[in-house]
Order: sequence, then structure tokens, then C-alpha cells
Amino acid sequence: MRYLVLSDIHANMSGLEAALKASEGRWDKVVCLGDVVGYGPDPNEVVDKIRALSAITIRGNHDKAGSGLEDASDFNPVARAAAIWTHEVLRPDNLEYLMNLPTGPIELDGMSLVHGALRDEDEYVFTPAQALDGLLEAPSPITFFGHTHLQGGFVLRRDGNAVDPLRLKVPADSQFAEIPLEPDTTYLFNPGSVGQPRDGDPRAGFAIADLGGKKVEFWRVKYDIAAVQDRMFRAGLPEPLIMRIAFGR
Ligand code: ZN
Repeated sequence: MRYLVLSDIHANMSGLEAALKASEGRWDKVVCLGDVVGYGPDPNEVVDKIRALSAITIRGNHDKAGSGLEDASDFNPVARAAAIWTHEVLRPDNLEYLMNLPTGPIELDGMSLVHGALRDEDEYVFTPAQALDGLLEAPSPITFFGHTHLQGGFVLRRDGNAVDPLRLKVPADSQFAEIPLEPDTTYLFNPGSVGQPRDGDPRAGFAIADLGGKKVEFWRVKYDIAAVQDRMFRAGLPEPLIMRIAFGR
């Protein structure tokens, strides 16, 4: 089975469409690690698409805030303004869909899916030290997580004594890099963010988990960033959010 692993789409329909187009024919099923909405200008279009794809989706913190399940009081002012706008424009059926998204972790086909961390859906995993508990406790050899918007992740080999960050870079002139899955190894993989990357590469990030082929592909695809910025501007979304998608920071 080959899974298209999406995360942190953040209401960016152009990024999502580019990801789907580039990966066409290369996967069997879609999973989504949350933050379907928030920040971006296309919440209804993106939720409609995720529903149409029958993606196995868990909720992210921005889905809770955008749907009204939680208030955005712990968000910074810019994120809060976007969450309030998102809540206002979402159709009732899409609000209900987001409100009813399950909390991670979900176990699927030898993989665990979480938004932030196994123990806490809102926890950020940035460093090997922060990744260690999850790698030791993981019920599956592969955990996919999102939330940080940083493509890559962490590896723990059974005979090793340290957590290694995944050394990964998708060159500017190609669309993906491949990581082979090895035995006796536990992986914490972040597919990257489709709609608001923060690792310095503005291209839409996602992954394809090819379980039969024992490999994971990490993808970066170009999309029309200026068109998204234009829609954000017209929606009155905060300027820092409009600027950052061009830099991938
Ligand atoms: Zn996010």
C-alpha cells in the first residue's frame, strides 16, 4: 500500500492542487495529519477536497480553533486573526466536519499518525531530545507527525544509542528524495507542510509512504505562491502570513 501523507495544508488550495498533480498515480490512499485550515485563504475549498479524497484525517490545533471547538486565546495575534476569519467563512457542513475530526494518534497499517506528538497532539517535536520519548514508546515502527512544518524527522536504530535527525534535502532541480526503510529501526517522519513550509524551502512539502516498497519519498513541489498571496490580501488576512509563504519561513 502506498499512502500520500499530507500535513499542515493550512487552507492553501494551490499548494494542495500542486501536490496532488505531481503525485498523481503514485499512491493508493490519502492520510492527513491535521491543520487542514488556518492561515490560508481557501478553507472551504481545501476541506471539500480532503473530504472528496476520503482522506484519513486527524485534527490539528488550527482545526480546533477554526471550527470553534477551542477559542484561539493561546494563539499569537496574527494566527488568532486568521482563525477568526476562518471560522467566519467556513460553511456549516465544513465546520461540523472539522469539529468531528478524531484526535491522534491513529494506528494504520503499521504506522502511527499524530499531529504533534504521540502523548500530546499539541506538542512540538523539534529536537532529537524531544523525539526520544516518542521513538521509545511508539507502538509502530513508523510514526508520522506534523505541527512543526519542518520536513524530515528522526531515526532510532535498535543497536544505536542516540536519536539521529534525518538528513534530508530535496534539491531545487528535483521533486523528491527517497529514504529506504530499514529493519530494527524506529522512525519519526514529518512530511513537511503543504501550505506553509518553515524550513526555508517555499515549495509545498508532503510524503509518500510506500510500505510494500519499504521506502518513504519526501516531496517538494512548486506552486503559484503569488496567486495565494493575492487571495490572502483580498481576504484581509494579516500581512506577515502573506509574506512568509514566499520565503518558506
Ligand atoms: Zn500547522
